[in-house]
Amino acid sequence: ASCAKAPAEYKETRYIFGTLVEFIIRGVDEGVAKQAVADIDRDFQHMHKDWHAWKAGGELVALNAALAHGESRHVSPFVLPLLKEGRDLEAKSGGLFNPAIGGLIEIWGFHSDELPTGKLPDFDKIHALAARHPSMADLKIEDDLVSSTNPTVQFDFGGFAKGVALDMAVAKLKSLGINNAIVNAGGDLNTLGQAGERLWNVGIRDPRDWGVIASVQLMGGENLYTSGNYERFRESEGIRYAHIIDPRTGMPVEHTVSASVIHTDGALADAAATALIVAGPEHWVEVAKAMGVRDVMLVDKQGTVYASPEMLARVVFDTDKKLTIV
Ligand code: ADP
Ligand code: MG
Ligand code: MG
Repeated sequence: ASCAKAPAEYKETRYIFGTLVEFIIRGVDEGVAKQAVADIDRDFQHMHKDWHAWKAGGELVALNAALAHGESRHVSPFVLPLLKEGRDLEAKSGGLFNPAIGGLIEIWGFHSDELPTGKLPDFDKIHALAARHPSMADLKIEDDLVSSTNPTVQFDFGGFAKGVALDMAVAKLKSLGINNAIVNAGGDLNTLGQAGERLWNVGIRDPRDWGVIASVQLMGGENLYTSGNYERFRESEGIRYAHIIDPRTGMPVEHTVSASVIHTDGALADAAATALIVAGPEHWVEVAKAMGVRDVMLVDKQGTVYASPEMLARVVFDTDKKLTIV
């Protein structure tokens, strides 16, 4: 008989949600860890299908079609919480995070794996749609029956679905007796427990070059989300139109390229990062406060970094990046 095994570290990477997701699980037998990853992968495939804003066959696509026709629809317990959470997050962000602007994102051509090139969408159409203010506040939710008083409401969960998914993933890990893990979906990540004796040391993604701007140590339960306004864009006559849209105008945000948030609530951190890109250097302080996030950082298009004192105190910047920290 062999001695009791030291708590090993189990690592596995899977391709889910269109990105590589790395799992590091400590302190349990390999079989338990393997099974947990397989379970979460299955959950993620389910989320990917039903939360998707444009791929046919999922629940959200069907719900969007119903609302566009002025119909109401029964919603599953799998989608309903996101509608309610999205509504709360939109209100907290003062409307800068708005998961009801799927119609605008569609017009811009971001509801496609292949982004359009060349001709830009009709700006009159964009401004007209923005002027109708699609909002989660237009929803009527009676038990599981959802309708909208505004036919321009179209859901797009792209700004916080990863956060909701990773929150559910770590909840599942906990339910399986795992208290020491990190789930990293391309730089957006949730943690549980500590990296052995140490804290989790993670990189803050640089959306400009897929590199890392800075590193930061996370305590168990803290999660890190970076919203990048540079990774997905369409180009027309040399101008890049990025995929984060200011709901007030319907236009892509230009001033800010990334926003990072650390918080114990992954969904909140994800939504806040998106809202902070829209808020930009002028308004990020008040929006962070209103959303209840403290550890935040932005990079504008000139490479200037804006960070809260709490964030600044814990990050170590990559000196090669030539950032100006204000
Ligand atoms: P990343 O793609 O880097 O994860 P986000 O988390 O901000 O960045 O998600 C961007 C996605 O959020 C967009 O592709 C779109 O689906 C959606 N989105 C764009 N603008 C907004 C907005 N103002 N509020 C909510 N969701 C948005
Ligand atoms: Mg994101
Ligand atoms: Mg986000």
